[in-house]
Amino acid sequence: MVLRARKRFGQNFLVDKGMIQKIVGSLDIKSGDRIVEIGPGRGALTQSLSDSPCDLTLIEIDRDLAAELSIRFPEAKLINQDVMKLDFDHFQDNAPIRIIGNLPYNISTPLLFKLFDSGEHIHDMHFMLQLEVVDRMTALPSTKAYGRLSVMTQLHCHTEKLFEVPPQSFSPRPKVQSAVIRLTPNRKATDVDKKLLEDILIQAFSMRRKTIRNALRKFLTVDELESLHLDPKLRPENLTIDDYLSCTRFVGDKQ
Ligand code: SAM
Repeated sequence: MVLRARKRFGQNFLVDKGMIQKIVGSLDIKSGDRIVEIGPGRGALTQSLSDSPCDLTLIEIDRDLAAELSIRFPEAKLINQDVMKLDFDHFQDNAPIRIIGNLPYNISTPLLFKLFDSGEHIHDMHFMLQLEVVDRMTALPSTKAYGRLSVMTQLHCHTEKLFEVPPQSFSPRPKVQSAVIRLTPNRKATDVDKKLLEDILIQAFSMRRKTIRNALRKFLTVDELESLHLDPKLRPENLTIDDYLSCTRFVGDKQ
């Protein structure tokens, strides 16, 4: 039985066989790899993953799809649960996991933030996301797409935009272009106060047209910015990740 796509679970299923091979091929799976697929849906990627000699875990929220998956892929471990409620410490007992997912676009940003905090259990992640989100994640300073998501992503992971995927690769077709990104956790800046960094980023990028003298006024004086070798006339988008880390450490030390 083919189940109807559920909009509330962001179900756009991959149907382009060439694209499915290209995505799974980009993982270069080795024997014994621990692969975790988020949102396997109708098993488009799962079929190809299960053909490789890996240890496979599937996380699917939709009960009906999960029931079909358990019959089709009996060798895989199936977790029929909302991935947002799953504690990734679940995977800490063994070798780091490799995550793959054509992610439901409605939860992609909160899910990414959750996974960034689970980095020590993760070897790498391959995700299909909206192209616009991938462009923001990989953006460099002083570009239009650079913002909070760029800083938070690149703080936790090395990023590689692999390739774009057109709407006709899916059924039903999404309205937007998609892309596949590879994220490799880099365990950078584990000493920094993440909550404070987030507060600073929210403040900075909610005023991205202002100078940092104004946008960061709540946190740093002009003298303090200058002591960090930051020109107060710069705009939030001109600051590098290291600049934001320096600001966060400085503010943390004076609190
Ligand atoms: N991997 C399949 C493919 O490429 O054809 C399906 C991708 S579809 C874009 C997203 C999948 O994630 C759906 O199967 C959906 O039911 C599942 N999903 C949505 N929200 C989820 C959640 N919070 N936790 C786990 N799975 C979820």
